[in-house]
Amino acid sequence: MKIFVVNAGSSSLKYQLIDMENEQVLAKGLCERIGVTGAISHKAADGRTYSAETPMPTHSEAFEAVVFALTKSDAKVIDSFDEVSAIGHRIVQGGAIFKGSCLITEDALNKIDELGALAPLHNPAHVLAIKACIKTFGTEKPQVAVFDTSFHQTMPEHVYMFALPYEYYEKYGVRKYGAHGTSHHFVSDRCAVLENKDKKDLKIITCHLGNGCSITAVKDGLCYDTSMGFTPLDGFMMGTRTGTLDPSALTFIAEKENLTPADINRICNKESGVYGISGVSNDNRDVAAAAAQGNHRAQLSIDMQRYQILKFVGSYIAAMNGVDAIVFTGGIGENDGELRKYVCENLSYLGVKIDDEKNAVRGEEIRISTDDSKVNVYIIPTNEELAIARDTLAIISK
Ligand code: AMP
Repeated sequence: MKIFVVNAGSSSLKYQLIDMENEQVLAKGLCERIGVTGAISHKAADGRTYSAETPMPTHSEAFEAVVFALTKSDAKVIDSFDEVSAIGHRIVQGGAIFKGSCLITEDALNKIDELGALAPLHNPAHVLAIKACIKTFGTEKPQVAVFDTSFHQTMPEHVYMFALPYEYYEKYGVRKYGAHGTSHHFVSDRCAVLENKDKKDLKIITCHLGNGCSITAVKDGLCYDTSMGFTPLDGFMMGTRTGTLDPSALTFIAEKENLTPADINRICNKESGVYGISGVSNDNRDVAAAAAQGNHRAQLSIDMQRYQILKFVGSYIAAMNGVDAIVFTGGIGENDGELRKYVCENLSYLGVKIDDEKNAVRGEEIRISTDDSKVNVYIIPTNEELAIARDTLAIISK
């Protein structure tokens, strides 16, 4: 059975076609500049590629280009889209409504649309893509929504509430929802397999560190707390995002510089974080290179991010009254051995010990803690697309 996985933005569309018999990716690709011009780059598992510039006024034309790439191009991997059993969509915001993945019905689609108020950059784009999918593939092809937020739905009330006047929660649903849930769920489940224990008996801290970053406390196989909040801006500093800070710093700057809420959103989401502090780049590799050349602000941004990550890990050990395993994933988590070493060395009081040779490994699943470490530490590459495909298969098999 083949599942088509879609991760749609307002002007882009990432996709993978996965064969669920062996969970192998048959092809993956990206459509860009939807609504402006249009371009597709596509790669089959055997290395064949196809790319083209083709008009994509809407997501419908993008899906048509994908069908061509999959079925007719030089990098085709199937004869017809009829071979695809279902389509799984990544949805950023499921609010308090969606506690798990679901079949996309008219009612579900309307609710995803309504949740656009909580994720204005993402949910409206997902709705456009789903509608375009229906237009291109008809209503017969099942479509499944897999939410970034649903893994976090098990957070207790005292964890997800903000200490604002209660009316804002009642009127607008302002609370912590979290993000990257598909990734935290995937790597924590995988960690339980590697620990050879029932996930119900484990306390795990999962660190998803990429361009966007979040850390989750997973207790008994369920999310207990997570660093991202009402939106994916909360937590600790990321490539271009601030993470948590004193809100009065923002009201102060807004008054001084005569800024609107939209300006503040832009500054906090796109101009801050590693980029804002270093002034070099949002990519940790560029920043590390600049720091090695003696750039103080680059080094400062590295020091700040590491310290903030450490504080979240420490706070979640307190929140769960212990930890059995710590997992690193995402582009930074999987590749940056120095960051992992910094975090683990500062947890030495708990008996965390890592093996320097194993910690030098990049992007591979491995336990990097020593045999006598009191807490196991792993690198587990995340695979959100596979998690979406698995959920899609589970929903259509029901
Ligand atoms: P992701 O969003 O998970 O794809 O992660 C992207 C980020 O991973 C990039 O912006 C880099 O900052 C980071 N990254 C990738 N490779 C490395 C590496 N070798 N060392 C440090 N950071 C890396």
